[in-house]
Amino acid sequence: MCGIVAYIGQREAYPILIKGLQRLEYRGYDSAGVALLNGGMHIYKRQGKVSDLIAYTEGKDKTGQVGIGHTRWATHGQPNHINAHPHCSGNGHLNLVHNGIIENYSLLKKALEKLGHTFESETDTEVLVHLIEELQSRDSLTLEEAVRVALSRVIGAYAIVVIDEREPGKLVAARKGSPLVLGIGDDEFLVASDATPIIEHTKRVVYLNDEEIAVLSKDGYMQIKTIGNEVQTPYIQELTLEIERLEKGGYDHFMLKEIHEQTTTIADCMRGRLNATEGWIRLGGVEEFQNRFMKAERMIIIGCGTSWHAGLVAEYLFEDLARIPVEVEYASEFRYRNPIIRESDVIIALSQSGETADTLAAIELAREKGALVYGVVNVVGSSISRLTDAGSYIHAGPEIGVASTKAFTGQVTLLTMMALQLAHSRGTISESYYQRLLTELENIPHKVARVLECEPQIQYIAQEIQDSHNALYLGRGFNFPVALEGALKLKEISYIHAEGYPAAEMKHGPIALIDENMPVIVTATNRNAYDKIVSNIQEVKARKGKVIAIVSEGEKAISEMADYTIEIPETEDPLAPLLSVIPLQLLSYYIAVGRGCNVDQPRNLAKSVTVE
Ligand code: GLU
Repeated sequence: MCGIVAYIGQREAYPILIKGLQRLEYRGYDSAGVALLNGGMHIYKRQGKVSDLIAYTEGKDKTGQVGIGHTRWATHGQPNHINAHPHCSGNGHLNLVHNGIIENYSLLKKALEKLGHTFESETDTEVLVHLIEELQSRDSLTLEEAVRVALSRVIGAYAIVVIDEREPGKLVAARKGSPLVLGIGDDEFLVASDATPIIEHTKRVVYLNDEEIAVLSKDGYMQIKTIGNEVQTPYIQELTLEIERLEKGGYDHFMLKEIHEQTTTIADCMRGRLNATEGWIRLGGVEEFQNRFMKAERMIIIGCGTSWHAGLVAEYLFEDLARIPVEVEYASEFRYRNPIIRESDVIIALSQSGETADTLAAIELAREKGALVYGVVNVVGSSISRLTDAGSYIHAGPEIGVASTKAFTGQVTLLTMMALQLAHSRGTISESYYQRLLTELENIPHKVARVLECEPQIQYIAQEIQDSHNALYLGRGFNFPVALEGALKLKEISYIHAEGYPAAEMKHGPIALIDENMPVIVTATNRNAYDKIVSNIQEVKARKGKVIAIVSEGEKAISEMADYTIEIPETEDPLAPLLSVIPLQLLSYYIAVGRGCNVDQPRNLAKSVTVE
């Protein structure tokens, strides 16, 4: 959450910062601001989106070859103009952008107030810039020294960039717990929360590590030190990101583009890792730690939001196919409840961004206890990918829509391969079933393309139910986590209250909610327990609920009862989530569009949750 971007070099900073902020807007859009150095300091900030900032700066002096920018997802203080970043020191010389939370800001603030500092905003961030100012003036420190000492007094998470008009040829950047990437161009540097603002300027990047401070100067000099003052040798990497993947490519929204991309992203996730003809699946990280996986007495899967739902699918997969007991945990709860973790456990951490603060903290805890930690992430070079013992990228490409779609199917694809690889090595499924699942999995991208052909029908159903105030999602077995994910998608982008339930649980409570105004979306592609789900639908119909059923092609009994039926290609039950989630993604999308909601930037939300 919160996007930060900075530039220092020979070109005008403003257009580079603005483009960068637009790329980072998925991380927050409560306010946007920039500070530019050009003799003095020019600061422009606005509540709202980057477009509001652009309109506000029209006709103003935007020159300067050094600058910092920020797009905010508020944690401390309302999303207004005063709390917008950059934040300025009391003497007006320093400006700072920040992503994260300074947890001891209140103590620091009181101490600084005693020293005569006054604060304009309600943010934690402003305290940090005043602390740097205080150290600079009290101990005559350079900017980087003052930043270093200030950070040693800070508790919490941060990625920051600071500029000082008295040292105009320099940017100081630092991180702990929030991501920061440095882009190295010809006589110029960029700094950003992820690589997307950097890619069109340079492919050479350094991912800053926790507790590192970088000093970047206009003459091309770069130095990285730790907070403990040790000089580090930067590890320069080449970006492989393609710029086209950051554009909407003719779609109205990133979310719709990303839903459609699933035909290729699922195939990309499997590329080089699965060959049904030759009968193998190979995930490098699993092979490397084969022994630990074989001996694993238990797996604990941790994630948040949509990743947690992918984890639930994996629970069904690992238990059903590989016969390994699984627990799925919300990262935030796991880390704060003194969990029992044994050395024989394998922890799988799921995160699209690879920066989810709660998941990162849970990983640290698991590592301390000696468990093997395996990361399943999308963003290459992200913190989780560097903190885990092993892992796999899902290769879904940049996911920009705040509501996750292709990352979910990427995670499920990867976890399905992992479950199959382990099931095969552990001998827990028959050779013929293994082979059948491999062939079917390889064929899933073609079936996804066929699911997408239902789009016009889904659009029609969306219009019919878009004025509802509530919705219920039901599913059994492998389709139960899909029901949860469908409900989450609807909540996130259309603001309709929705709940997901195991279909059989309905009669233990939620059935009381059903009347003719309640759409009940039932994912009923299961071969297993098919009759049971038919009965569950009868129960809904008996109470006049409006049933939207997702069934396998050719299905009869449910189609006759349901108000609307969406037919999708048939598949093996363990692979069903990869297909059945797609109509639910499309349904939420078209309902949200029909209600006039901002699909890619839903209210109060942001992607890449770097705060706890
Ligand atoms: N804590 C800062 C604020 O509220 C930054 C928030 C964030 O990174 O999400 O402005």
